[in-house]
Amino acid sequence: MDGTLGELGETAVLARIFPRLPASSAQLVGPGDDAAVLAAPDGRFVVTTDTMIHGPDFRLAWSSFEDLGWKAAATNLSDVAAMGAVPTALVVALAVPATASVLDLERLADGFRLACEALAPACGVVGGDLSVSDTLTIAVTAFGDLEGRAPVLRSGARAGDVVALSGTLGAAAAGLRALFERATDPAGEPDAELATALRSSHPGLLDTQLRPVPPIADGRLAALAGATAMLDVSDGLGLDARRIASASRAAIDLDPSALGADPALALSGGEDHGLLATFPAGTELPGGFRAIGRVVAGDGVLVDGVPYDARGGWDPYDDWNGGRG
Ligand SMILES: [Mg+2]
Repeated sequence: MDGTLGELGETAVLARIFPRLPASSAQLVGPGDDAAVLAAPDGRFVVTTDTMIHGPDFRLAWSSFEDLGWKAAATNLSDVAAMGAVPTALVVALAVPATASVLDLERLADGFRLACEALAPACGVVGGDLSVSDTLTIAVTAFGDLEGRAPVLRSGARAGDVVALSGTLGAAAAGLRALFERATDPAGEPDAELATALRSSHPGLLDTQLRPVPPIADGRLAALAGATAMLDVSDGLGLDARRIASASRAAIDLDPSALGADPALALSGGEDHGLLATFPAGTELPGGFRAIGRVVAGDGVLVDGVPYDARGGWDPYDDWNGGRG
């Protein structure tokens, strides 16, 4: 049975979607009642939200519905992990065109389930809302459990700490650049056939952009190892390192030799959602963390001791207007 949201109505569509959603281990009452009920054994919970809107944040010509569910889950899980918490539950508010097929919505639910299974197995979708709009919008709220630990804030870095990163740098930006350069029509509009061809001719090139795999479990490991500050790198290493530096009233000096083959792209490219953390000197770095610099007295971001101008951070509106790409 196919059909559109407009033909089937919300109740019938939800009946198709609910069985595909991942369950949360914190869930006491799940989808289907007026609200969900979650266990919060710590007495506190972490909460964050992030919205993806067709146009500035994604294009259906480039992303499948399953990709979108995956990415919406991954980016929210990443903000929970960046506090040193374990993601427990997601609530998803969708506004979709009435012409959207129920199969599209099933694929979207599949993307949420696959991402939770891969990145945060205790986390599930416990509720949400389904509405109609000409502009596809996916708004996710995520909850997390601190398991009795102090949250890892942006403000705790101290001179002498090691700066470390888990995850990729610049891979999502390289994928977005490839999409703009090689998967747009002569008028500059995203082209689905070109994107599909690019995806099969260059396996992996677009994955971090369309289906990021942030190191969610490393957030908890960083907290356990004594991380003094942390965030997820959503807007580019240069800009996000500056956020830790300014919150901590210190400077971050990055080692260009630790930034991969293209340090400029690593510094400016956003959306990889790696975790950037600081640890006391001598800490054995946990999980996938590797040292990329150190915290020093002063302010701002330095690269090999030279002040870095962070204006190259990711700006979605600039990108979608055909800017840096
Ligand atoms: Mg963040």
